[in-house]
Amino acid sequence: MVIENEETEEISGLIYSHDNFSDFSDDYNEESRVVSTEYRDEDSNADISLRPKDLSEYIGQENVKEQLKIFIDAARGRGDALDHVLLYGPPGLGKTTLSSIIAHEMGVGIRTSSGPAIEKQGDLLGMLSQLSESDIFFIDEIHRLSRVIEEVLYPSMEDFAYDLILGKGPAAQSIPLKLPRFTLIGATTRAGQLTAPLRDRFGVILRLELYTPEELLIIVKRSAGILGIEIEENGAAEIASRSRGTPRIANRILKRVRDYAQVKGDGIITGEIADAALNMYKIDKLGLDSTDRRMLESIIKFFEGGPVGLDTLAATIGEEAITLEDVYEPFLMQIGFLNRTPRGRCATRGAYEHLGMEYKIREYYNPQLSLLGDESEVKGNE
Ligand code: ADP
Repeated sequence: MVIENEETEEISGLIYSHDNFSDFSDDYNEESRVVSTEYRDEDSNADISLRPKDLSEYIGQENVKEQLKIFIDAARGRGDALDHVLLYGPPGLGKTTLSSIIAHEMGVGIRTSSGPAIEKQGDLLGMLSQLSESDIFFIDEIHRLSRVIEEVLYPSMEDFAYDLILGKGPAAQSIPLKLPRFTLIGATTRAGQLTAPLRDRFGVILRLELYTPEELLIIVKRSAGILGIEIEENGAAEIASRSRGTPRIANRILKRVRDYAQVKGDGIITGEIADAALNMYKIDKLGLDSTDRRMLESIIKFFEGGPVGLDTLAATIGEEAITLEDVYEPFLMQIGFLNRTPRGRCATRGAYEHLGMEYKIREYYNPQLSLLGDESEVKGNE
């Protein structure tokens, strides 16, 4: 991620680039994006050991944990399988981790798959038939299941039965198969895309929230301890506050900063080392990288601060609308830099200030009315 041929200057301690906004081909490359929430191979080797194994090691998400403890205790008390659970929230927040923890706490086995991987009915039957009583069947990206598979999943979830159809046409035979009582845990970044019949079959629906810097601080220190990385409190705090509320990013940044500390320092992650490393990776004080800034800059420069439709914005910065919605927007909205209105996305005053751009009050745009879904352009009263 190197920005070439452009001026950079320090604004309140962060690197801000004055690149030509019409040229978005500069430094962006999802492969090298340190703050990407997507799972990468580099996450994998240490991932297993960094994944918390039980609820007590799972930091944050207090409300989710509290609810789960009750459901788990109740199900165990009855000697029953846990109700089907839907976990939703942005990537990297710990949905997969939580499903393994639920299996551990219930003392049952777990089989994992994902929506796009289950292509044929036979794939699903193969997986369901390998489950034992009370086992957990985890389906990641459950919103990407095909409708056909969804429909055969309904009776499996409800009656623990599977109708195997043999042959075609009038000669077709339906053979009812009995399945063990299992728990389906579905994970998704977009609960809104689930069909209503599928959503209704989950007894427990839990939303994971972005983590606070305090929670991420604990996660960073825990991960550093497991990986044998020497880290000072300030260093951990610097990483925590620049990780976009996401443990996967915090762990990845920790490993990158460790490399930097080894080469440029004496291996210890101090506040200064972490700051210098993060500046080098072009991750600013709030955890925004060049793509976040480009998105905001684009709204401000090309669309006068918005509102701009998601698809138009995506096309302008050469990103997929889904990626913008799932990966970038949750954090920008959480820190109050972006508003989603019925008429499109708007950059807030905070975003202008963070980027060092002059905030202009738009005469004809009233965000209050826009939030209420007013379609007409009205005169602002600011
Ligand atoms: P998701 O399935 O939501 O994309 P994961 O469960 O794969 O996210 O979590 C990504 C990584 O973040 C895990 O490998 C784990 O190391 C770390 N992690 C997630 N949640 C927590 C947590 N609550 N406490 C500590 N580490 C966590």
